[in-house]
Amino acid sequence: MKGAPIVSAVVVLNASFEPLGVVPLRRAMAYLVRERASIVEAVPGQTFKSASAEFPVPRVVQFREMVRVPYKYMVQPWTRSGVIERDRGLGCAYCGRTGAMTIDHIMPRSRVKGNPNTWTNTISSCLRCNNIKAARTPEEARMPLRYEPRIVTSRDTLLLAIASTGADMVSLGLA
Ligand SMILES: [Zn+2]
Repeated sequence: MKGAPIVSAVVVLNASFEPLGVVPLRRAMAYLVRERASIVEAVPGQTFKSASAEFPVPRVVQFREMVRVPYKYMVQPWTRSGVIERDRGLGCAYCGRTGAMTIDHIMPRSRVKGNPNTWTNTISSCLRCNNIKAARTPEEARMPLRYEPRIVTSRDTLLLAIASTGADMVSLGLA
């Protein structure tokens, strides 16, 4: 390989362009050498050599044949940090302020039968709004939600992993 590789992870697309995952650079190189995949996006100015050929260093590769995916995207287990991550960039659900966020239970914990910690019952709130709302619903507090809470699936996790590789999310149709 010429120069130090600047990618360590490569996005893998199905033949249909559906994103399948992120794999270590070495595995993506093996797909290329065995002609299982072709390059969709490369790292400019970087190449690697196999025994018989020279290839650009890939950032995104696509399988030539359709790979069967036996599962649907799974709902991820709820976590506080997952709620903060999901709502990043949206700000406080009540006033729009950005910065340090707390977790607000939309239907107050004391009034939920069962588990109050679900994706659709929790949302990012600044501490001030959380204290003002207290143990009331948004309707009771007259604090309408500025955005709806969303269920987080393994697709969201996949998209975060893809974004972290530096791949062009717009040209992949993922942004
Ligand atoms: Zn707020």
